[in-house]
Amino acid sequence: MKAVKVIPKKKNSVKMVDIPIPSLKRNQVLVKVLYVGIDGTDRDIIDGLYGTPSTNKKDLVLGHEALGMVEKVSTTVKNLKVGDLVVPMVRRPDNCINCQHDEQDMCLTGNYTERGITGQDGYMTEYFTEQEKYLIKIPKSIGKKAVLLEPLSVAEKAMRTALNSKKRFLWKPTMALVTGSGTLGILCSLILRSKGFEVIIVDRSNDVRKQRIFDVTNIRHFNTNKIDLHDIPKKIKQNIDIFVEATGNSSVALHGIMVAGVNSTSVLLSIAGGNSSIQLCSDCFNDGLVLQNKTIVGSVNANKRDFLSGIKSIKRIEKMWPGLLDSLITKEYALDKIAEAIQDLKENIKVIIKISS
Ligand code: BGC
Ligand code: ZN
Repeated sequence: MKAVKVIPKKKNSVKMVDIPIPSLKRNQVLVKVLYVGIDGTDRDIIDGLYGTPSTNKKDLVLGHEALGMVEKVSTTVKNLKVGDLVVPMVRRPDNCINCQHDEQDMCLTGNYTERGITGQDGYMTEYFTEQEKYLIKIPKSIGKKAVLLEPLSVAEKAMRTALNSKKRFLWKPTMALVTGSGTLGILCSLILRSKGFEVIIVDRSNDVRKQRIFDVTNIRHFNTNKIDLHDIPKKIKQNIDIFVEATGNSSVALHGIMVAGVNSTSVLLSIAGGNSSIQLCSDCFNDGLVLQNKTIVGSVNANKRDFLSGIKSIKRIEKMWPGLLDSLITKEYALDKIAEAIQDLKENIKVIIKISS
């Protein structure tokens, strides 16, 4: 079967190869891959900046955002049957106490593996095998847009974390600022908007497809080509309860934390990757946090419960704005066009690879 492989930490090593179809072991499910989404993590791996090879190998099958169909199940599999739609989780546990309690998204050691990213082959191939417990069953009515569930699970975990931090206040949070309108920024905004939040997105994009999403969902949009984060009207700034950073720019993260209102929670979601630094008045930063009860939290990956609440969010968002989630998938490529697909990431909201039908 065909697969897309890379040699991690080696720039532009991506290529299509032929590998054997994996054989089914005890407790496993054989999944036929239908679609794989790609994101900045895949681009970083292809650029040689991120990722580690599959255990005992030099290379790695790419792909961590997949939608597949159950092709075969071992006799011990209980809750999945041939023909079911599934989305696989990404991270696999090590032996730390959190991992051993199915909290591998909160791994204590960093020795977890991630399929398609670190230490385990991913899903950009025709078939993969996996244990039942790492496969999320998808209602048939959701269909193709379930390829968004993995990034959505990351957004769900982040919003769960932010909303939990709000429980210590008497009032309900109502306003959110999101920087960045890539897939993650948009998904966080849609979760918050669908839960009744007023949402302000700040980005550098003039994309009309994104503008349509903001218009349909009543999200306010400021373009940082025209306005600096600090110049957002005071009436808005002081009411920001939740700030979500999803640009990949650490300086935006620090400025956003400063801009967000009293008692705000800032959730940082992107891996900046480089070694940029900025000058900042550390006393002002410190005192701003202390005197305004601000919370800062980083969030990565997702727990099974975030995949499950992601399914609920898909249903809720679909009901409120039918077709909106489908419109996030702006480009589809064939498996052998992975290099072009990666080039096209910046011009799109979500690029997916079609593997089988
Ligand atoms: C994935 C996460 C993963 C993270 C860090 C993201 O692109 O969606 O599941 O934990 O990269 O490797
Ligand atoms: Zn662990």
